[in-house]
Amino acid sequence: MNKKTWGLILIFYVLRIKRCIQCVVIGAALCLISPVLEANELPTHKPIAGGVSIFELGPYSDAPNVSYQGDRVAAIKVSGDWFAVVGIPLSAEVGAEVAIKVKVDDWISFSYLVRVLENDYGEEKLKVASKHVALSQTNLERHQSEKTHIDAVKRTFTQKKLDSFKLRMPVEGRLSSTFGFRRIYNGEPRSPHSGMNIAASTGTVVLAASPGLIIDVGDYFFSGKMVTIDHGSGFLTLYAHLSEIDVSVGDVVSHKSQIGRVGVSGRVTGPHLHFGVILNGVSVNPDLFL
Ligand SMILES: [Zn+2]
Repeated sequence: MNKKTWGLILIFYVLRIKRCIQCVVIGAALCLISPVLEANELPTHKPIAGGVSIFELGPYSDAPNVSYQGDRVAAIKVSGDWFAVVGIPLSAEVGAEVAIKVKVDDWISFSYLVRVLENDYGEEKLKVASKHVALSQTNLERHQSEKTHIDAVKRTFTQKKLDSFKLRMPVEGRLSSTFGFRRIYNGEPRSPHSGMNIAASTGTVVLAASPGLIIDVGDYFFSGKMVTIDHGSGFLTLYAHLSEIDVSVGDVVSHKSQIGRVGVSGRVTGPHLHFGVILNGVSVNPDLFL
């Protein structure tokens, strides 16, 4: 081939690549500006760190395969259209663009970019037993092995069809700490608060926030006695610092099932329930689902 032919081939591919980039940019722009369906079944759309981004995928017959950083993302069909419901990690930086991959029927694939908006979380200072801040070697090893286990549980994705993302409050009590607070334990900064704290006296009954399957129960160094429920499609709820656990792994629960009682197990300042919500392996604000 002569130089001219090579030149034409080069221009052809440059134009194609440019077009692909344009498609992604247009997709991202559509995602950022498209109106979000106000359906009762969906959580609140709030694309901040620890928040949820919802975007329309289209009227496909089968559930599209949606993923974020290798973790499957929930897709839900509302009035004939599929929607992706993406949990944005608390570690996401304000202004960053989160790339969500979508694959349909193995031959259509595209990416959506979600811009992380500024959040409004505050800071709180807490005083706890020093063994829960400066960890001994034994406790550090225990915590690390428990963290590996809990992280694996949080990544659970089951294909069960989801009817709703709506949750009920699992316990009656006073909201004592909200999600996202930057936390200073005994003067030392630690990870932001990954759930909602509801203060109630020890022994108060804790109910499942939505029907599901019990996938984990345990007694952990930080979380104390904890139960995790799988609601399907990577949507999980967890209940920590219990005094008593009334379910076992494999139990199917309804939204009226008693799963345990409020307590002071793990790293706590007083009796309360730590209520957590997980989407695609990351902790998100429970408020968006209530
Ligand atoms: Zn908590």
